Amino acid sequence: MTEKTTGDQVQGAEQHEFSAEVGRLLDLVVHALYSEREIFLRELVANAADASDKRRFEALTDASKALPPNASIRIHPDKDARLLTISDDGAGMNREELAKNLGTIARSGTRAFGEKLSEAKPEDRPSLIGQFGVGFYAAFMVADRVDVISRQPGSDEAWKWSSDGKGAYTLSPASREAPGTDIILHIKSDADEFLDAWRLRSIVRKWADHISWPITLREGEE
Ligand code: ADP
Ligand code: MG
Repeated sequence: MTEKTTGDQVQGAEQHEFSAEVGRLLDLVVHALYSEREIFLRELVANAADASDKRRFEALTDASKALPPNASIRIHPDKDARLLTISDDGAGMNREELAKNLGTIARSGTRAFGEKLSEAKPEDRPSLIGQFGVGFYAAFMVADRVDVISRQPGSDEAWKWSSDGKGAYTLSPASREAPGTDIILHIKSDADEFLDAWRLRSIVRKWADHISWPITLREGEE
């Protein structure tokens, strides 16, 4: 569970290794759930909504954390750059939280899911998705690299977490205009469908109908 720092400095980025549990879970999720890849978007939109709810709650006692009036969840496919970005105006993560929340299995639900998944017969694995949230790591089913850029309300500092999902991640200083989080997926060569706005819209309709924050989809370059 403990996070190791290798001390490697890659272009100003500190490199860290995933906890062993994360490595195992990543392997399972990426290989066992291939036929259900589209649920990555459900997981990322759910996280964006949770983070927005968290900020709204924090703002009750700290007005400086108030959400912008047009707070939303934005889905932005860029076919030319092969990037899919999911952005929110939520509570964000600082450096320590990026390392803890995305580099270790910080919650029991994910661990339970990993255990169930490894015990299940391959043909039973997809049905487990409905019972457990797969979580953030589902992003690696469709992306060969994931960048997370995050800034918390009340801070000018932003941090970037980046990983290819193969054992390590980097943390480096970044910038973000406003508080919130961008999850930037570098879409795999066999996952073109997830750069298609029509396809993305149908996934949102299917899995994210109940989300109480506005979800917008915008195509093309930044
Ligand atoms: P869960 O959502 O069930 O806790 P996940 O694997 O989906 O598990 O996410 C792990 C954690 O990473 C979350 O609990 C949250 O602390 C953090 N996180 C993920 N996405 C975001 C986001 N968009 N904004 C802020 N924190 C996030
Ligand atoms: Mg989640």
